Amino acid sequence: MLTLKNIKKSYTTGEFIQVALDGVSLNFRENEFVAILGPSGSGKTTCLNVIGGLDKYDSGDLIINGKSTKEFSDSEWDSYRNNSIGFIFQSYNLIGHLDIVSNVEMGMTLSGISAKVKREKALEALGRVGLKDHVHKKPNQLSGGQMQRVAIARALANDPDIILADEPTGALDTKTSVQIMELIKEISKDKLVIMVTHNPELAQDYADRIVEFRDGNIVSDSNPLNVESKKEEYSLKKTSMSFFTALKLSAMNIKTKKGRTFLTALASSIGIIGIAVILSLSNGFDAKIAEMQEDALAEYPITISKQTQEISKEAMESRREEMKEKATGTSEYVDSDEVYLHDPSENTLIHTNNISEEYVDYIKGIDPELVDTIGYTRIASMNLLRKFDDKIEPIAFSSSDKSNSSQSSQMGAGLASYPSSTKDDSISFIEKNYDLLEGEYPKSKTDLVLIVDSKNRVDVNAMKNLGIDTTDLNSIKFKDLVGMEFKLISNNDYYEKTQFNTFMPSSDYEKMYNSDNSVTLTLSGVVRIKEEAGISLIGEGIAYSDDLTELVIERAKDSDVVQAQKDADYNVMSREAVDEETKKNLIAYFGGDETPYAIMLYPKSFENKDQVISYLDDYNENKSSDDKIVYTDLSKVLSDMTGGIMDGITIVLVAFAATSLVVSLIMVGIITYISVLERTKEIGVLRALGARKKDITRVFNAETFIIGTGSGVLGISIAWILTIPINSILYKMTELESVAKLNPVHAISLLIISVTLTMLGGWIPSKMAARKNPVEALRSE
Ligand code: ADP
Ligand code: MG
Repeated sequence: MLTLKNIKKSYTTGEFIQVALDGVSLNFRENEFVAILGPSGSGKTTCLNVIGGLDKYDSGDLIINGKSTKEFSDSEWDSYRNNSIGFIFQSYNLIGHLDIVSNVEMGMTLSGISAKVKREKALEALGRVGLKDHVHKKPNQLSGGQMQRVAIARALANDPDIILADEPTGALDTKTSVQIMELIKEISKDKLVIMVTHNPELAQDYADRIVEFRDGNIVSDSNPLNVESKKEEYSLKKTSMSFFTALKLSAMNIKTKKGRTFLTALASSIGIIGIAVILSLSNGFDAKIAEMQEDALAEYPITISKQTQEISKEAMESRREEMKEKATGTSEYVDSDEVYLHDPSENTLIHTNNISEEYVDYIKGIDPELVDTIGYTRIASMNLLRKFDDKIEPIAFSSSDKSNSSQSSQMGAGLASYPSSTKDDSISFIEKNYDLLEGEYPKSKTDLVLIVDSKNRVDVNAMKNLGIDTTDLNSIKFKDLVGMEFKLISNNDYYEKTQFNTFMPSSDYEKMYNSDNSVTLTLSGVVRIKEEAGISLIGEGIAYSDDLTELVIERAKDSDVVQAQKDADYNVMSREAVDEETKKNLIAYFGGDETPYAIMLYPKSFENKDQVISYLDDYNENKSSDDKIVYTDLSKVLSDMTGGIMDGITIVLVAFAATSLVVSLIMVGIITYISVLERTKEIGVLRALGARKKDITRVFNAETFIIGTGSGVLGISIAWILTIPINSILYKMTELESVAKLNPVHAISLLIISVTLTMLGGWIPSKMAARKNPVEALRSE
């Protein structure tokens, strides 16, 4: 059934060529006990390894059941070893971390036999060698003889045709040797047993046939067979190890070195811990910022101003580029003796928004559920008089013209308008954002309020403008201010026409004050910004409702001075010639222009803001760029900035933590490499039992998979536990509650990253393991 035809095999070590088999030809019977004798180094083991398919012959042929093995592929050799051969070694070669029964089952495990059948066959084989009572012991709990019995049981379990035993009694005492020989003799009744020994007596006593080797040649054969085996059907069952088997094998191995595996997993989890903590912190901060935005930034209105700066994309790019060059020190200086001319304003466009009546109507048409209040800023000045100590004096303040701040700060410091409500029944802007300190909240458009800051301060100029003598004055009682009255004088009463066809403020205050056309304004209360209100957009001083400005304009638009200014191409007060722009401003100043200078929309909530913005964007659709209305969303600018900073910090920190991941990758590589070295023998045994190279890779991949999963789970758990003290420290420092929160998606991603990286680290060592020559692997200690 087995024929060796002129088999040659030599080993090359450096320059030296050692011939191990020098043309060996042998025929074996189906059932016989062949003993191979010969001095050390005569090629016995090599011959056995060639027969067993562990080693490849250089030339000649090995014929199994009439089939030549010359063209055998790797997988055919693997199947052959698994199906047809049972090895018994001098040093037993049991897998130390597996119990006896698993050792015996291993060959069958590789050929994919079901667990039940496998167990049955293994127990039967163990029964045959007399070890039924020891099945769950580990190899190191057995004596040498018992271990060799296990090895025999393993060789028998898969019911191979050929048993190859290399000095099976070499490490045993005489008494045990005899027992083992009896066992092998028994086996040889229905199998071909080829046993290498250098004990001639044992060979004489037990073997049917003795073949003697010398220098790679057969020098004698006690019972040669000359008929070549006939061609028969010969098929082999393919072997393959499932990943689950590989996992089990590695798990058992890892069990024997729990401490080291734990430390490895812990060390390689440090990167994961770092990244997980950083991500959970940045997550938390992002969430807190989002909350803050909803709380505070929602208070920032969306502003539409007559003039807005637009910075072009190109300008942004070049500015960013400049900053990058500065930061990285790569900025280039031009070497030239010329001055280059450029226009910086090319990059910043001043966009003029044409806030027409139509646009104001559009704004007014916004869903009142989206915006609480809409503020309109107009340039119209108010003609105000105040009576005190029976003396009537003008109060010189223009309304809050933000474009002309120098003027307004001089003339009308602390006079501002607040937005009127979009709905009549909603609570007013002042009531919502300000605490009442004295008097009453304004109820009608003729009610004014005094806004003070958190320390109850107010600009001294605002008080001066009210006509209060502030010399030698440090403070004024709320009571003295509340109830103060002013008269709003109509343009026709206020301005007198001169003989030069110009207009001048009249000096007959008494007449104006008592005119039927004047309206009384009352300071109804003193208010202060609420603590929980985000930001104060109205400065300290006297504030009035936008509705009052509307009233002023309503009364002023048909007045003589407005009419005259509309008709004249000069300033009707000074007779100076004016251009179109100045003329427009003058008309507005006199109250002849209803369109606002700026509009501020206060969204009801942060969520509503997007809807408000899309409402504003809708207007711009299909409009030429000149007709577009450009708005400013300050809260977006702010949140983009904070968000950007957070992202930047996170990236830097994650990069640092990633470095430790790379370190752990290398470490796992080293650990796997050590494991490969330690398990070399096991690799040899598995290969002898028919494991494919792929299966060996799988075993080590399984090991790194376990370590990777372990370190991932460990890292995430530790990071999760760490968030508790981190949060309590942050709470003490910032009063922000539970900032660090590990996102489950991040946790799972990190686990996957950990597994992938560790498997990557173990990949090269496990490939190395697979490439190991099985004969050399078996020979290693
Ligand atoms: P035996 O088992 O009869 O003692 P072996 O078959 O082990 O002898 O070895 C036969 C010859 O081949 C010896 O000279 C040995 O040194 C050599 N040899 C065996 N294996 C190797 C190897 N892997 N590399 C180099 N030489 C080897
Ligand atoms: Mg030998």
